[in-house]
Amino acid sequence: MDYLLTEEQKMIRDLSRQIADEKIRPKAAEYDKADEFPKDVIKDLAKSDLFGIFVPEEYGGMGISVLNLCIVTEELSKACGGIAVCYAASALGTFPILLFGNDEQKKKYLPALAKGEKIAAFGLTEPAAGSDASAIQTTAKKVGDHYILNGTKHFITNGGDAEIYTVIAMTDKTKGARGASAFIVEKGTPGFTFGKKEDKMGIRASSTRELVFTDCKIPKENLLAKEGMGFIVTMKTFDMSRPGVAAQALGIAQGALDHAVKYAKEREQFEKSISTFQGIQWMLADMATQIEAARALIYAVARMVDSGNAKVGKESAMAKLFASDVAMKVTTDAVQILGGYGYMKDYPVEKYMRDAKITQIYEGTNQIQRNIIANQVLKEQISK
Ligand SMILES: Cc1cc2nc3c(=O)[nH]c(=O)nc-3n(C[C@H](O)[C@H](O)[C@H](O)COP(=O)(O)OP(=O)(O)OC[C@H]3O[C@@H](n4cnc5c(N)ncnc54)[C@H](O)[C@@H]3O)c2cc1C
Repeated sequence: MDYLLTEEQKMIRDLSRQIADEKIRPKAAEYDKADEFPKDVIKDLAKSDLFGIFVPEEYGGMGISVLNLCIVTEELSKACGGIAVCYAASALGTFPILLFGNDEQKKKYLPALAKGEKIAAFGLTEPAAGSDASAIQTTAKKVGDHYILNGTKHFITNGGDAEIYTVIAMTDKTKGARGASAFIVEKGTPGFTFGKKEDKMGIRASSTRELVFTDCKIPKENLLAKEGMGFIVTMKTFDMSRPGVAAQALGIAQGALDHAVKYAKEREQFEKSISTFQGIQWMLADMATQIEAARALIYAVARMVDSGNAKVGKESAMAKLFASDVAMKVTTDAVQILGGYGYMKDYPVEKYMRDAKITQIYEGTNQIQRNIIANQVLKEQISK
């Protein structure tokens, strides 16, 4: 389909595709096996200014564009969903500063993030607080000109490899969800350490670690927005970042379909190419249709976010829900089309299937996305 991309968007797509083909695809299996963070690819993405596409020009970027972020993430994910998320999670960690940072905070942190000299991460989840984020136990206590952080975040993408962390902590537990606040914490701050690196099913090139805060003292200037706004920061951040997770799912699905088509044309059984069997053709047709529907939804939602529309929670959730379910279905079918070979690590499709699964889980599971969508649908019906 023609998505009427601008010349600049086509340039960004082609550049990302080139990096994916030349730098990521040849090494994707290696990074996956080694469970290794792709430092050299991050440098290539930085050199190509691709970290600048979600930062305003006045802070050294090319202007905020969620559609551009989706285009880059989709292209990188076609080659490796794990490497793509190292990039996309930096946007996730940067969005709270973009959306809620004051001018000083933006001047201090955004230029290095736009250049990709530093990467970011976002720390919300804790061992006992996943879907129920309001149950977080990490505290930030104001003492004079500082906040003292104590607690543990877990499952944090880019944990240990990022330099800048946006972290949600309770400043007033008595207020429940309204007692949470958002902070910027720099790697190297005394009292801020990293726990174990997780050994994961998929997206293995990305690092997932614990963030441990033990009397970690940060200046009061690192508070984002105001005390008590931690969950507003979180929700607005997710509204902007969920199309990016959807784009990751989309790229993974497209990568799997491309391999399935190629294999179906090459493989012969019953003295014919398996691509001549209607059973295979209909699977390919459904896969391609679902992928195109996901792409149309993601690009439309990204354009809606970029237009400045403040009410995008439902649509962002829909994009993530739909695209991630498509990715899981399409990658499972791709394995099926390759038969027994699809199950083997010698072929790339089993990795697409492993990488797809996480897109149904992080930045809110798909059950939580359905809750968000249903809440809004019910509200809209009442107000009609
Ligand atoms: C690889 C990886 C990377 C991650 N990266 C980050 C990151 O960078 N930053 C960050 O903060 N977090 C991150 N996370 C955490 C992720 O967002 C959480 O794992 C996710 O939100 C789910 O929380 P949980 O794992 O505690 O599951 P739980 O909340 O315990 O959920 C368990 C099951 O119960 C279901 N469930 C829970 N509540 C409801 C409900 N109300 N209705 C219906 N079903 C429900 C869930 O859908 C799920 O199926 C990451 C996780 C992983 C695995």
